[in-house]
Amino acid sequence: MVLPDRSRRAELSFRTPATLTPSGPHMINRRKTRQVTLGDKEHGIVKIGGDAPVSVQTMTSGYTYEIDKCVAEIHKLAAAGADVVRVAVPERKDTEALKHIIPQVQVPIVADVHFHFQRALEAVEAGVHKIRLNPGNIQDRAQVEKVIDACKERKLPIRVGVNEGSIIERKDKQKRAKELGGVFSNNKHGYILAIMIAKLEEYLDIFYARDFYDITISAKSIDPLIVIDAYTEISKRFDHPLHLGVTHAGPKETGTIRSVVPLGHLLASGVGDTIRISYANDPIYEVQDGLELLYILGLRERIGAELIACPTCGRIQVDLFTLVQDVRKKLKEEIQIPIKVAVMGCVVNGPGEAEGADVAIFAGDRKGIIYVQGQKTQTVPEENILDALLEECRKFQDRVRRGEAKLGDKVVEVIPPDPLGELGSGFDKIAAGQVEKVTPLTISK
Ligand code: SF4
Repeated sequence: MVLPDRSRRAELSFRTPATLTPSGPHMINRRKTRQVTLGDKEHGIVKIGGDAPVSVQTMTSGYTYEIDKCVAEIHKLAAAGADVVRVAVPERKDTEALKHIIPQVQVPIVADVHFHFQRALEAVEAGVHKIRLNPGNIQDRAQVEKVIDACKERKLPIRVGVNEGSIIERKDKQKRAKELGGVFSNNKHGYILAIMIAKLEEYLDIFYARDFYDITISAKSIDPLIVIDAYTEISKRFDHPLHLGVTHAGPKETGTIRSVVPLGHLLASGVGDTIRISYANDPIYEVQDGLELLYILGLRERIGAELIACPTCGRIQVDLFTLVQDVRKKLKEEIQIPIKVAVMGCVVNGPGEAEGADVAIFAGDRKGIIYVQGQKTQTVPEENILDALLEECRKFQDRVRRGEAKLGDKVVEVIPPDPLGELGSGFDKIAAGQVEKVTPLTISK
């Protein structure tokens, strides 16, 4: 067995803190990482790290050996915008299936390998585009070296993914007792971090010893604060691209917040090159929410319309919840360019939001007034709001495509309608003292 030459450490640039490079419209200073490439002409080439946009990954939820179902799920996830799709390969029949799956899909595929290093070798033979190894359950140095050599020969990257759930030693009883003692002590947070980083460094030394640097790193935990600290610390020690994620984030209803808090924090700090949001739900939501997170941080160029809507309150006089859902569904079907659309319940906050939107509507007393880049275009009854708004969005999309209009090109100040006049928003209620009195931009009791 060849031991890593630790004297080389000082020479290796990836041991030093990485520099920052500006990126994206909001100028998040992204940490510069050593880029890796996966994929091919048939499946698309995806670059991770360096100046590549942050990519979105997900994982199939069905059995890989059920070939047709797996292919269908990969198609669905790729169509939703997944840049990379990972599949589990726990058994030989799964890696066998990969040979039939890979030629049928158009997105790079990662084989998720645990416990059995042979699955990694089989997946490489089957034509997979990247391997994920877990240092918590494939520890034998000779086995890891075999996987590294196979990937090196095919120029495939490897993700080294440490995970809080599998980081504690399981075979060596003495070591396990010591590690568990630390985990259950008062300093669990710091102890988990220390174990994660120590095991990561130890594992990566095997890769460096074989001159293998096509590596991405993940360090997932269920605890958002550990996720933030782990990736922040790792980003200071290595310049390999980082795959961000929260492990076992739970159902979408609560998993969204558990995931978005640490991932949003890290991405806004410039840390993270590829992300996977994980839910106990259809993975299509992981892709949709991952993309939305990158869109709102300005780390990816939005595909399709952006919808802004008010939360509604006692001033609302149309069925805005239904309207917003209908608008959202239709925009997804019909608009392919990043038009900003605002659906506002009244004139209180409507004008401010509309000033940043390409197409906006303020609802009033069973009516709506539509604005396109600050110009009022029509007033319609509630039942026609959806159709009229979509018509304006389609017309605007056509004008943008013909070069007659520019997205976000709005310098016109929106003059709000008189709430007691044109929209008649709540005069009777106000007179009856049922709601606060509303003036165009101020509210008084
Ligand atoms: S825009 Fe109007 S209806 Fe919507 S939340 Fe604000 S005040 Fe309420």
